[in-house]
Amino acid sequence: MIQYIFIFVLGSVLASFMHVYVTRLLAEQSIVKPRSHCTTCGHTLSWYELIPIVSYAIQKGRCRNCKAKIGIDSLLIEIITGLLFVVTFAIFGYTFKTLLGFVIVLIMISVFLSDFKEMIILDSTLIVGMILIYLLIYLDLGLWKGIYKSFLYGVFAFVLMIVVKVLGDAAFKRDSLGGGDIKLAFLMGSILPYNLFLISIVIGSTCALPYALYISITKKTNELAFGPFLVLGLYLTFILQNHILEFLNLLIN
Ligand SMILES: [Zn+2]
Repeated sequence: MIQYIFIFVLGSVLASFMHVYVTRLLAEQSIVKPRSHCTTCGHTLSWYELIPIVSYAIQKGRCRNCKAKIGIDSLLIEIITGLLFVVTFAIFGYTFKTLLGFVIVLIMISVFLSDFKEMIILDSTLIVGMILIYLLIYLDLGLWKGIYKSFLYGVFAFVLMIVVKVLGDAAFKRDSLGGGDIKLAFLMGSILPYNLFLISIVIGSTCALPYALYISITKKTNELAFGPFLVLGLYLTFILQNHILEFLNLLIN
């Protein structure tokens, strides 16, 4: 039980950092300065006002200085990330796959925040993510079975997405996939073998369908952020990989 609480806290603390980092990068502010502050009155937050979830609960969701309501989104992000960390750990236990899962969850948080808000996927997220992912793969499987294979699968995914983009651009007569989506595909391919990569695209696209319908009905924008659904597909495929592979085996035999 203690270990689950620890993992939950770890997830919510990292999510809190990720939220601040992405929000500031989008606003092109420095990451270290200025210190975290209330966006209404400018009151600088002390350490005890920055504890994920706990501070929010104690202050009843308001700024200690001006009593302005604090957005609920950071609270939600911290709780969801904590829960996803616990789910990942419950499935993979003390293995490198758990750490890989944590990295995927953090990338997912970043992509959700930046792609839905600004229609971009931050390069720094992808670069730091890739370094961590390849480091974990190396520690887990070594150079040939790990890095080499992952890189080949990554290139496969990358090339496949470029082909889809070229076809999509021609069919819809506009940009179908963004550059961020294609870079993301390389990252996904590095984690998943090609069969699971294809499954993750199917899962992601299926999740995107209701959102695409909603957008086409309300016509608020004709741009669809696809990145969040790609990473969602990646995470779901990653944690369910053993079940998916069993199912694929049943289909073939
Ligand atoms: Zn305030």
